[in-house]
Amino acid sequence: MGHTEGRVTGARGLRCKECGEELPLGASYACEFCFGPLEVVYDLDYLRANVTRESIEAGPQSIWRYADLLPCAPIDTQVGLPVGMSPLVPAPRLAARLGLGEVWVKNETANPTHSFKDRVVSVALQKARELGFEVAACASTGNLAQSVAAHAAAAGMESFVFVPSDLESQKIVATGIYGCTLVAVDGNYDDVNRLCMELAADRPWAFVNVNVRPYYSEGSKTLAYETVEQLGWTLPDRCIVPIASGSLYTKIRRGFGEFLELGLVEGDVPHMNGAQAQGCGPVAAAYEAGLDFVTPVRPDTIAKSLAIGNPADGVFALDVAHETGGSIDAVSEREITDGICLLAETTGIFTETAGGVTTAVLKRLADRGDIGPDERVVLYITGDGLKTLDAIADRVQPVTISPTVGDFEAAVAGRGAPLPA
Ligand SMILES: *Cc1c(COP(=O)(O)O)cnc(C)c1O
Ligand SMILES: [Zn+2]
Repeated sequence: MGHTEGRVTGARGLRCKECGEELPLGASYACEFCFGPLEVVYDLDYLRANVTRESIEAGPQSIWRYADLLPCAPIDTQVGLPVGMSPLVPAPRLAARLGLGEVWVKNETANPTHSFKDRVVSVALQKARELGFEVAACASTGNLAQSVAAHAAAAGMESFVFVPSDLESQKIVATGIYGCTLVAVDGNYDDVNRLCMELAADRPWAFVNVNVRPYYSEGSKTLAYETVEQLGWTLPDRCIVPIASGSLYTKIRRGFGEFLELGLVEGDVPHMNGAQAQGCGPVAAAYEAGLDFVTPVRPDTIAKSLAIGNPADGVFALDVAHETGGSIDAVSEREITDGICLLAETTGIFTETAGGVTTAVLKRLADRGDIGPDERVVLYITGDGLKTLDAIADRVQPVTISPTVGDFEAAVAGRGAPLPA
């Protein structure tokens, strides 16, 4: 078991995902022996003895109710931004439209900066402060930038965020506003990431998705925990999750696995369906071709928050798709905007392009007959539509009229219910 700020948690150390070598809980992200990626490991006996449904339910209404399953002490929610416990809402009209039985939407637009990235950033920055870092930084496809800037502002940390220079203007404004140093790099995300790896090597900064990445990615497990809790301590049958680096997708699967191991829930790991855009679908392409490695691509898609051409966890995502009886699909630009409209019209939830990808993959699976009539499906909607307005601006047309009743009636003839008799 580990100790952080005098508090005992279940985190025991870091372990190499390739060779199994264990390291202490420091600011390391690659194995000293084989350069493999590192992952936090927990003391199962400690967790079994200390984590129960009741202990979780007694916790705060945030991701910190799962603090024992995270690698750091909980933040003081009076000070930090409260993250998590986002709504899990039933979507009967979406289900009916697609001919499905039961669909739920995990609505991550409800987080403080309107994407699921608040979960990973909250954990990464908390751990970074425990490790003594004073400066936060990140390489971002957009949402991470906003989240790092906001959480650093709330914690009184200085922050540097690096983004591709072609990022949506909404995301640029919604990041710079927090008073960070915002660096727009002429290049794509993979260029930005490479630069940040070099910068991280000789600066005492916590790059949330580079040198503290093992902690960052743990935050995504809370999406699985909440789903189980919000479904009354039961598992869904199938989850549709977007894939950029593959961290979110693999960690949601891990979260279900941990709850099963601890006996907090019974049943089978859900089928995990990954969602990518065809304009940046290297993991979907590898899945389709039956390969166990991922060939990097050059991203070209409106789903910019998913535009990682060389995904760090791509190979692990392939494993999850196979091992859970899922799949990884890629959808076209038109399917993405159709997906945004479909979700908005049937649930009242407006999602960014990443959620359009996820919804479009749900539709693809339904059309293909991959989803059984009795299945309970959860759709992970990871970001807000106000972040990517340009992508769907041409899908919305007001009816323009002069201010007369006659003009109005002519324009909307046939719409709306008739007057009551
Ligand atoms: C970052 C992001 C994802 C997925 O990210 P991973 O790198 O695969 O963990 C999904 N949706 C949105 C909106 C994102 O910003
Ligand atoms: Zn190793």
